[in-house]
Amino acid sequence: MQVPAGAIRSAVRQSTTAFSRWTSCQHQQRFHARTTATATVATRKAFMPIQSSRWYSSHAHKADEAIKNARNIGIIAHIDAGKTTTTERMLHYAGFTRRIGDVDSGDTIMDYMKQERERGITITSAAITFGWKDHRINLIDTPGHVDFTIEVERSIRVLDGAVTILDAVAGVEAQTETVWQQAARQGIPRIAFVNKMDRAGAGFGRTVREMRTRLGCRPVVVQIPLMESLRGTSDTQFNGVVDVLTMEVLRWDSDSKGAKMVRSLLDSNYPDREVYQEAIKARVALVEQLSALDENIIELFLTLEDHMAIEAKDLQAAIRRLTLSSTIVPVLCGASFRNIGVQPLMDSVVDYLPSPEERPAALGRMSDGKVVEIGNGGPKERLCALAFKVVHDARRGPMVFVRVYAGQLNERAQLWNSSTHTKERANKLLQMYAMDVEEIPHITKGNIGVVLGLKDTRTGDTLLDGHDPRKGLALSGIKVPSPVFFASIEPMSTSDEKPVEEAIKALIREDPSLGMRVDEETGQTLLGGMGELHLEVAKERLVSDFKVKAEMGRMRISFKETMRGAGVVSEVPAWEYDREILGKRGRARVGVTVERLERFEDQEDERASESGNSFSKTDAGKKGKKSQADATTHMGPEEYDGNEIIVSLTEQSPGTDEAGALAAAEKAAALGTVIPTGSTDLPIPVLRTSIKNGILSALSRGPLLGYAQTHLKVRLTDLHLYGGESTPAAISSCVAAAVTEAIRLGGNPSTGDTDNNSVLLEPIMDVRVEVAEKDVGTVIGDISGTRRGRVLSLGQDDDSAAHQEEDETEFQVYAPPDSTYTGPGSASSPASSSSTDAVGTMSDRRSIRAQVPLSSMLGYDAALRALTGGTGKFAMEVIGYGEMDFDRQRDLIKEMRGG
Ligand code: GDP
Ligand code: MG
Repeated sequence: MQVPAGAIRSAVRQSTTAFSRWTSCQHQQRFHARTTATATVATRKAFMPIQSSRWYSSHAHKADEAIKNARNIGIIAHIDAGKTTTTERMLHYAGFTRRIGDVDSGDTIMDYMKQERERGITITSAAITFGWKDHRINLIDTPGHVDFTIEVERSIRVLDGAVTILDAVAGVEAQTETVWQQAARQGIPRIAFVNKMDRAGAGFGRTVREMRTRLGCRPVVVQIPLMESLRGTSDTQFNGVVDVLTMEVLRWDSDSKGAKMVRSLLDSNYPDREVYQEAIKARVALVEQLSALDENIIELFLTLEDHMAIEAKDLQAAIRRLTLSSTIVPVLCGASFRNIGVQPLMDSVVDYLPSPEERPAALGRMSDGKVVEIGNGGPKERLCALAFKVVHDARRGPMVFVRVYAGQLNERAQLWNSSTHTKERANKLLQMYAMDVEEIPHITKGNIGVVLGLKDTRTGDTLLDGHDPRKGLALSGIKVPSPVFFASIEPMSTSDEKPVEEAIKALIREDPSLGMRVDEETGQTLLGGMGELHLEVAKERLVSDFKVKAEMGRMRISFKETMRGAGVVSEVPAWEYDREILGKRGRARVGVTVERLERFEDQEDERASESGNSFSKTDAGKKGKKSQADATTHMGPEEYDGNEIIVSLTEQSPGTDEAGALAAAEKAAALGTVIPTGSTDLPIPVLRTSIKNGILSALSRGPLLGYAQTHLKVRLTDLHLYGGESTPAAISSCVAAAVTEAIRLGGNPSTGDTDNNSVLLEPIMDVRVEVAEKDVGTVIGDISGTRRGRVLSLGQDDDSAAHQEEDETEFQVYAPPDSTYTGPGSASSPASSSSTDAVGTMSDRRSIRAQVPLSSMLGYDAALRALTGGTGKFAMEVIGYGEMDFDRQRDLIKEMRGG
C-alpha cells in the first residue's frame, strides 16, 4: 500500500497537539525500564576483560546462528574525518585494547599513507573481528586515497554495510562523494556518523542538508547533538547526544575515557527547554519521514495519532528495513576524539546494517557462461569463497583474506582456485583481532578470515572445494581498473634482474591494480599503476620490503587504442597460417570480424546521460551503468578490458550428408562456427582457449604505439583445421594474425594511411572540486580552457530541487539548527560562535564536477592551490577513456616514435 504523502502530512499536522500525552507516567516508565537494561549491558561489555577478546573460541559453539549475528562492515570516509580515531575507540570499548591508541595528526597524504599502510598490515590487518552485544563484527579496512581505489573497491565488494564518517566542520567533502558513489554502485546499505562535533564551527544540521544535496540520499536524523552553554559565556559546548528514538540524553563519563555511558530520560522537566523542544521536533520529523516510507509506521501512527506514542522498537525496526533497502541513511553524531558517541554507533551497526543473509545472493559464472546464485543452496552447498586481499607477511608468508559465500572452509582442506586453475591447500586458518591472532578450524558461510599456505591465489580469485566438479565456477571478481600511469623499472645490474621481476610479481599479487609488461622494442620492464603516489609507494616497497636494487624512470600516462569510428566493422574472412616451427608444420585457417563498439555504456550510464558528454567510456565508466538495486544481481557479458569476445563452436554431428551439412551451415549463423568431424582431435574447450588466447594476444598491442586495444568486439566467423597440424599454438598464432590484420585495416582496405584507421584513447577523470564562491569563475575557466575539461555541474546548497523531482515521496529533510555555526544557511544563528575564517570560507563553497583528461590533471594540486589561495580541494577517479583529437594524436605519435 502506498500512502499519498500529502495525507500523511495533514494527519501528522492534526495530531501534533497531542504531545502532552506522551509525558504521561506510563510512557516514562516504559522507556526507562528498557533503557536501564541497555545501559547495563553496554557498561558490562565495555569493561569486558582483555582475555575474552578471542571472540571465535568463546562463541564457536554457536556457529549456526553466527551468520545472523555477523556484520561485515567497512568505514568509508574522507581522509582525516576520524576513521582511525573512531576505530580505535570501537576496539577499546569492545574490550580488545587496554588503552585507546594515539592517533597522529596525519596532516599530509604521505603521513596518512604511512600510518594507514602500517596499521593496515601490522595492526588491523585488512579485516579485524570484534564482538559487540552478542554480534560478531568484521571490520574491513578501506583506505581513502584514490590511487588506491582498488583497495576501496575490493573491500566494498565483500562488505554488507558501511559506516560513513563525516567531519562536522568540513561537511560532505569531495572525496566523501567519491567513496559514497563507490558504495552506492555496489548497493551497500550505509549509516552516517557526523564526527568532530566538539570543534568550533561544527555544523550537524548543515552536514545533514549536504548529505541530501551532495550525496543525494535521504538522511534520517536519529540523534541530535547536545549543545550546552558554557557557564558565564555565550559559547556552547558539545556534551553528548539526544537519542530521538528513546527520547533520552546520553552522556559519557570522561574519567573512564568514555567507557561509561549514562542515559537519562528527556521530558518536560528537563532543565534546558530548548533541548527538549528540539528533541520533540526531531521526533515528529522522524515519525513523519518514516510514515511516508514505511507501511507499518503509517498504520501505527494512524492508530495512535501521536508521534511520541510510537515505541522506539517499532521505529528502530522501520529504520532497519529502510536502511537495508538503501532507502534512507540514519545519521548519528559524536566526537570520537572526546570519546562521545561511539557506543551508539556500534549499536547502530548491529541494529541497522544487514547480516550476510540479508544481502542479495552473490553471483557466479559457470564455465559455459551461465550465471548462478551462490549461497542459496542450504547447508549442503559446497564451498565458494572469494579472495579479496593478499598481504605479504614476513613471518607467515602470503596471508589471503577470504570471504566465504557458501559452505565452509576447513583447515587443511584441499582447494581449487577456479580463476587460476590450480590446486591449493589451506594450511592454517586465522581470525584477526586488533593485537592478536587466533588459529581457527574453519571459516563459516558469511564470514571473513585469513588462509595461510595458498601459493598462487591472487586478489579476486574464487576458491572452491578441491573435489567440486564445477571447475570453472567463478564469483564475479573484483573490477580491477587498468593502470593509467606507467614507469620503467631499471635493475641496477643484470644480477638484479631476476629478483626485481620476482618482487614485482609478488607486489602485483597483493595489488592487482599494478601491472607489469615488457616493452618489446626497448626490452624495458614497465610498471603500471593508478597514480603517481601509487607507483612511488610500489617502488619504495620494492626497495625497502623486497630489498631489491632498482631505479624508477619517468612516469608516463598509459593510453589505449581502438579502431576509428563507432560501428565500423572490419572483416578478414579467411586468414591462412602455414609455418614450420622447430621442424614441425603448423597450419590453420580462420575468419574473424572486429567491430568498434558503439558507446554502449552511455545509454544506461547515468553519469554520462546527465552530462551529455562525448567521452566514450570503458572499464571504470561501466561500473556506473548499473542501478543501485541491481548492481549485485546482474552480471554483464564476458569482458576483457573493455572488449567483448565471441567464440561459439559447434561440433558437426558425424555422418551428415550434403543436405545435413547445408542445414548445419544455416545453423552456424545462429549457433556459431561448425567444426567438421574428423578435422581435429582437440576437444572444444581446448580449441576455445587457443582461439581466445590468440584474440587476447592481438588485443594486447595496438598498431599505433603498441598500447592495449579497447572497445572492440571480436567474433570468430570461420575455423578450418588440418588434423594434427592444427596445434593449439598454430591456432592461436593464426587467430592473432587475423585479428591484428583486421584492426590494421580498420574496415578501410583501400586506405594506405593505416595510422588513420586507429585512434588513441586517453584516461578521463571524474573530478570534483570544492572552492569558495569567489573562485568559481577562475577555476571553471581553467578547467574548460587550459585543461580541455567539460564542466558537468556546479552544485550549490539549494539544488535539492533536482533530487526531489525523482523522489516520489517528497522526502522532507529535518536538520536541527547549528548552535556554533553562524554562516549563511544555518537555521538559527546565535552570534556567539567562535567560528574561524575557515568556516566562513566553508559556508559559501561550491562544488564543481567535471570530466577532464588525466594528462591535463598532472600537478593540479599545486595549480588549484595557486588559483584559490590554498582553500580549494579536489578529488578524482578514472571513469574511462576518451578519444584524442587528431592533431594531438599526430603530435604524440611523432614524439613517441621519435621522429
Ligand atoms: P582518518 O584519516 O579518517 O583516519 O582520521 P584520523 O582518525 O586519523 O583523525 C584525523 C585527525 O582528526 C586527528 O588529528 C584526530 O585527532 C582528529 N580527530 C578525530 N576525531 C576527532 C574529534 O572527534 N574531534 C576532534 N576535535 N578531532 C578529532
Ligand atoms: Mg587514519
